[in-house]
Amino acid sequence: MAESKTISDLVMEYFRRHPNEDLPMGPVVDWVTEEYLRSHPSPPRDPWRAIRKLHQEGKLVKVRKGVHRYDPERVEGVHLFDFPPEAKEAIFRRDSYRCVVCGKGIADGVEIHADHIKPKDRGGDNSVENGQTLCTQHNNIKKNYSQTEAGKRYFIRIYEKALASDDQNMIRFCKDVFDAYNRHGINGHIRRPNGR
Ligand SMILES: [Zn+2]
Repeated sequence: MAESKTISDLVMEYFRRHPNEDLPMGPVVDWVTEEYLRSHPSPPRDPWRAIRKLHQEGKLVKVRKGVHRYDPERVEGVHLFDFPPEAKEAIFRRDSYRCVVCGKGIADGVEIHADHIKPKDRGGDNSVENGQTLCTQHNNIKKNYSQTEAGKRYFIRIYEKALASDDQNMIRFCKDVFDAYNRHGINGHIRRPNGR
């Protein structure tokens, strides 16, 4: 029995079978429809929309109108760290071109940025749902904050290695770092290693 796949699953399956080829929507939709009908009673509702959405999420490259391409390297690479232009525009539009924290926008003379609500390095994707509009000030606050988080996690790993090898100098250094975090009330939600 065929397992039930979503329209997006099927679209990606087709593109993955034809990596780095310029594929017009027509044949993709034909194939997806045929496959979809194996496990569903009626044809897929809007396969064109699924293709456009996958493009917005950065999973497909738009070659020209109605033609897309799956580029494995580009999808796995740094390209994914930013929202594709269409997704960025959709995020701004949804948020009325204003920072979701302070409400300031271009009309107030501030620059706006598309921010990942769940960061990329924690599995956040480039979907419009995972984006929010922030002004430069609030974007920087969030960015700096997440860097201190990454820093604390990094020191926790160093600390664990130091404990394992009984490196007393490094253990003392890490404890001072954790004390500094606590003293400044930063990243208290990431627990410092207990004891020793
Ligand atoms: Zn703001």
